[in-house]
Amino acid sequence: MSLSPRINPYAVFHGPHRRKAASAAAASAVLLGVILAAVPGSASAQTVRPTTPGSSAFTAEHGVQPSTGVVQLTEPTAYLPPVGAGSSQDAVAVALNLTPGSPPAPPAAPAPAPVAPHWSAPVPGAPITNPFGVPNPEYAAGYHTGVDFAVDQGTPVLAVGDATTVSAGYAGSYGNQIVLKLADGRYAQYAHLSRLDVSTGQQVTAGQQVGASGSTGNSTGPHLHFEIRTSNSYGDVIDPIGYLAGHGVRDF
Ligand SMILES: [Zn+2]
Repeated sequence: MSLSPRINPYAVFHGPHRRKAASAAAASAVLLGVILAAVPGSASAQTVRPTTPGSSAFTAEHGVQPSTGVVQLTEPTAYLPPVGAGSSQDAVAVALNLTPGSPPAPPAAPAPAPVAPHWSAPVPGAPITNPFGVPNPEYAAGYHTGVDFAVDQGTPVLAVGDATTVSAGYAGSYGNQIVLKLADGRYAQYAHLSRLDVSTGQQVTAGQQVGASGSTGNSTGPHLHFEIRTSNSYGDVIDPIGYLAGHGVRDF
């Protein structure tokens, strides 16, 4: 007969919990005999130790489900035998309200590391008031070379992607302007800003604030004029909304 250090997960009950110590010890002694008699030949797998009043211990080979009527109580339990389980409190009562233990769940796979967003709208959620490409004689190119977003003065303006700051300063009709070179070689241009928060050569990440909107330069009111360029030259522009949408940006 060997005692396993592990406690079998199947719990059953015996004896009254409030029985006097001497009586409980006697009941346990009786119980030991009952169990060993009830499970002939299985004593090596289901071992009962003498109990102390108010508690008892039962051990079995780990993972082996004991026969009904065996005891596993290592400390006072909150569970009580089912009503009507038997009039004799000395009898072993199987805990009908407990279900056999389930095998332990395999360890969960490590959660994937959160992926930082690589693209952002320049002013998330702002409505477009003047789209790209609209014919406009006021522009040397003959059309609107960027997209205008309606934003209040001082609205944070964000880097649309991981980028290097090419320039940040005053640029004539564009007012305070920032040009970023994106990781894919395109350029993002922000115009009419009220504030510049980056300087030439500074690395920025997608979603990082680079400045604040305004109405500097040739502008009739606060808004953000935003361009995507294929080179750092005026007029080498593509549709900025299509470009950002192609990178999964939707919030405009
Ligand atoms: Zn514009």
